Amino acid sequence: MPCVFCRIAADEAPSRTVYRDGSVVAFLDANPLAPGHTLVVPVDHHERLEALSAELAADLFGAVHRLVAPVQAAVEADGCTVAVNDGPAAGQEVPHVHCHLVPRFAGDGGGPIHAAMGPRPHLDGAALDEIAAAIAAAV
Ligand code: 5GP
Ligand code: ZN
Repeated sequence: MPCVFCRIAADEAPSRTVYRDGSVVAFLDANPLAPGHTLVVPVDHHERLEALSAELAADLFGAVHRLVAPVQAAVEADGCTVAVNDGPAAGQEVPHVHCHLVPRFAGDGGGPIHAAMGPRPHLDGAALDEIAAAIAAAV
């Protein structure tokens, strides 16, 4: 089993697991961006968010919802950045869906998710209308 998160989910690789149910496992990130940095992953291997069934996606976000307060409480954080790097272009390095819970502290020097992006595109009203219509049509 080459995927490290599959191996962790199967208990075949060491991890600091903090939560587990039938479809989701959560464990501390090995290279934390902050104390308490936790990864929430489906037990089954799927590379991209869109590959999850609706049920598994609900289970994943249900676990995120369940964990966000305990993670913050454990490290006395003031907030939490919740994020998925979905695909290599978005910075995904481990090709097994995972949601980051990164505890945040007042004055920690980090920025909002907006800070992870490059320069903002200029999109006029017509362009925004076209994009919104394309998304709505594809849902
Ligand atoms: P990505 O860039 O794919 O969104 O994030 C992958 C995360 O997985 C990184 O924050 C990295 O530190 C973490 N990671 C990579 N390998 C391991 C591992 O073997 N164990 C744990 N606990 N975390 C890992
Ligand atoms: Zn995997």
